[in-house]
Amino acid sequence: MDVHNPGTGEIVGTVPNETSAAVAATVQELRLYQPEWEAIGPKGRKAWLLEFQDWLIDNTERLASVVQSETAKPWAEALIDPGFATDLIGYYARGAAEFLAEEHPSPHSPLARVKRLTTVYRPYPVVGVITPWNFPLAMPVMDVFPALAAGAAVVLKPSEVTPLSAVELAKGWAAIGAPPVFSAVTGTGATGAAVVDNADFVQFTGSTATGRKIATACAERMVPYSLELGGKDPAIVLADADLDRAAHGIAFGGMFNSGQVCISVERVYVEAAVYDEFVTKLTANVEALRQGIDRHDSRFDIGALANENQAALVQRHVDEAVAAGATVLTGGGRAAFGTAFEPTVLVDVDHTMSCVTEETFGPTLPVMKVADEAEAIRLANDSVYGLSASVWTDDKARGARIARQLDVGAVNINDVFANLFSYALPMGGWGLSGVGARWGGANGVRKYCRQQAITTPLVPPRPKELFWYPYSMSKLLVMLGIMRAAGARGLRRLNVSALLKLGGGTK
Ligand code: NAD
Repeated sequence: MDVHNPGTGEIVGTVPNETSAAVAATVQELRLYQPEWEAIGPKGRKAWLLEFQDWLIDNTERLASVVQSETAKPWAEALIDPGFATDLIGYYARGAAEFLAEEHPSPHSPLARVKRLTTVYRPYPVVGVITPWNFPLAMPVMDVFPALAAGAAVVLKPSEVTPLSAVELAKGWAAIGAPPVFSAVTGTGATGAAVVDNADFVQFTGSTATGRKIATACAERMVPYSLELGGKDPAIVLADADLDRAAHGIAFGGMFNSGQVCISVERVYVEAAVYDEFVTKLTANVEALRQGIDRHDSRFDIGALANENQAALVQRHVDEAVAAGATVLTGGGRAAFGTAFEPTVLVDVDHTMSCVTEETFGPTLPVMKVADEAEAIRLANDSVYGLSASVWTDDKARGARIARQLDVGAVNINDVFANLFSYALPMGGWGLSGVGARWGGANGVRKYCRQQAITTPLVPPRPKELFWYPYSMSKLLVMLGIMRAAGARGLRRLNVSALLKLGGGTK
């Protein structure tokens, strides 16, 4: 399969379209090496992960070039992928030993105190990671390296639109001489489906439509999955907000990576008192963006869209809105090169329009006037999605209160994307935006593990336990009496006569 630069149309690489049989063979091989990877423990794995982090740093410029070649991002944005990867790998390489430490929970009752209780985190042998095209290097890293830190082997299936960066990651892992527990397989959706057919846990990032297919396939095999899907993130601008910061933040939140970010701002609600002033400032910021194709000279803020389908989708949302009465304040059409679309601000829009209700995943910011906070919250929650949101206000308590009324997996107050750079927090979507979450400190590695419960005797062995055969009603009543005394309340705790009646005189 040829890989194109969407800004110029040139072919920048070729990868195989791997068959189901090839994927099955890759997973089979990963299974062979995984037990040893698990056995070296989090400290042994940390050494390899930090070695790989060094490799990422040493190869940053080359990797950013590969990212840029298959996305047509501005150089400033292409550099973010390897930088983000370096940061994330460091966190999970260093944190995994603590996150995966065995736990010894306190027994819940006196009867259980005869055992030492242990919870062990044992990885799923092979985790399948399937990724989209918007961040070809950072997106795989987000899930591949927490899974490796957990002790799983990983098979990665990157998007067919941008597979080159993922292939580089797998080559880098081999180049440092790390154990062969990470492979990338390239191909279309059918290759992804083969990953789902063979992995023991599936971590998927992509559209809601594909996520639904994957959930169905996983249910058939009874394998667990985690889905990071689409979004339609609202921004709420309140009358007491710092309007300059809000207008800069929302311009960035809507246009970063040409709007191809799952948590990009996709709709804006502004309190009536500041609507005109905010729209003027936002439009000026969006108009000022420099759009074009740079190489390593960093001359532009915004590049192209990933492919023609994406450009056609954005155009449809704008055209449908305009046909229904919307006004374009800036942008509104294709830019002069490749698949690029102009950064666009739309007003006179409402919840009957696709640009407000469907995921656009492009550089559009539809802005709506609302009477007050209550209307903003109601409209923000009027969506099938629930990925994240932002609230702009000078009153921190008000922001915190509103955050707790929004039906989304993350809320940034006076900011965008901040949760994405905080791996100690979970990143997950509600509603059609996902099932499960990535990261969240310890949960980011524990999600790739099965929990194993182990009991070990604390008292010297006896020939047999109270409840073993042959049954004895008197011994059973002693046990039930202790359970009631420990767990019930009031007089019921000690109501021995009621308990004895249950014995019915049987020995
Ligand atoms: P997509 O669903 O079309 O494809 C994603 C991946 O799934 C690709 O690798 C594709 O080959 C593979 N795939 C397709 N059919 C498959 C099948 N039947 N079984 C297994 N794999 C299959 O998504 P896309 O167009 O590449 O990416 C854009 C979408 O990703 C947007 O909806 C965006 O919101 C979402 N996204 C979500 C997050 C998040 O964290 N929530 C992050 C980035 C992107």
